[in-house]
Amino acid sequence: MDEPYWSKSVHNLRFSVIREMSLLAADLEGVINLGIGEPDFDTPDIITKRAFEDALSGHTHYTASQGDPELLDKLAVSVSNATGITVTTSSILITHGGMGALAAALKTILEPGDQVILPEPHFPDYMAHIALAEGIAIKVPTTFEDKYIPCPENIDRAVTGKTKVILLNSPNNPTGAVIPGNILDSIAEIAVRRNLIVISDEVYDQILYEQPFHSIYTRPGMTSRTIVIKSFSKSHAMTGWRVGYCIGPPAFIKQILKVVNYSTACASSVSQRAAIAALDLDPLIIERMKDRFSRRIDLVCSRLTAMKGIRVNKPKGSFYILADIREITGQSQTFARALLKDAKVVVIPGYAFGNTGEGAIRIACTQTSMILSEAMDRIELFLDHYHPANQ
Ligand code: PLP
Repeated sequence: MDEPYWSKSVHNLRFSVIREMSLLAADLEGVINLGIGEPDFDTPDIITKRAFEDALSGHTHYTASQGDPELLDKLAVSVSNATGITVTTSSILITHGGMGALAAALKTILEPGDQVILPEPHFPDYMAHIALAEGIAIKVPTTFEDKYIPCPENIDRAVTGKTKVILLNSPNNPTGAVIPGNILDSIAEIAVRRNLIVISDEVYDQILYEQPFHSIYTRPGMTSRTIVIKSFSKSHAMTGWRVGYCIGPPAFIKQILKVVNYSTACASSVSQRAAIAALDLDPLIIERMKDRFSRRIDLVCSRLTAMKGIRVNKPKGSFYILADIREITGQSQTFARALLKDAKVVVIPGYAFGNTGEGAIRIACTQTSMILSEAMDRIELFLDHYHPANQ
């Protein structure tokens, strides 16, 4: 077969570096994996119990493509309370995880060749979603020195006649940065002036170490041009249930609904029942999970800061730390592979998050404090005799 039968856009996709690191680790014993982008906690029992009870009582059929009406009603109330904006069910669409919302929104909005402004470092999957929607990512670098906060002037400069979307992610994977309100004001002003849509990925909005959370959706003129991506995955330790949603102008939601309808019919009915239970969960349970992430982040940040050649910006949200290792090496892949081979610790090399991520490693605090301490001991020991020139 000279030419592959599959499409160029799929052929050109790379498997993720995160997957690559896990595969490398699979053959080794005693590995500590700090590459995992999901809470190590199980879904709170009450959520699972209620979902299974609902399944036993018949919630095992297709739901409406837009979502289980009870979940939509509950979300309309909770989103309205959280944003201070009256959001009705016509502005909400339940999806197969936040990922389902992202993919469907980009597919709905982009024509081939349309440009998406993407602050970098970024969640690697964005590149695949943009490519599958035949769009083009225009990267706008952010820096360690600026705490990885996007610069509105740089975003404005990146806009061309082909720009359609600004894709924001706050709290951010991999940097843990949270975009402050005044920067969101400026980006909103650009979106309105340049007539752009903003996709605001807020799947980590509940894992926030400084209150309050600001969403660009609430900025003047933005409810009519923002698609917010939300998920139960990280906030409620529900990654495997695959349930998320997007919020946006009803006219957009109606179009995105077509993509969801034809690609997945609807989100899993049982998972949507789990999401209803999640919305009834005692907020203290979420608070406790967040406190544990916060303590782990404190521990890892203080240990890393004490290591020669490593610098960190303490995350303001999410459970990731993007540690700068440029004083040691600019080759994050070589470093991460050597760390795995010699110290049996998995971290994600920063180049996975775009060129700006090079010279950094991502550490996910999704292991217990005891395991994280052991991992820090191993990294410290590893650094004592790591010489990039010998690799
Ligand atoms: N957005 C970001 C920034 C993420 O890190 C992830 C998952 O890691 C997602 C979206 C998708 O999450 P899910 O599809 O599990 O809701």
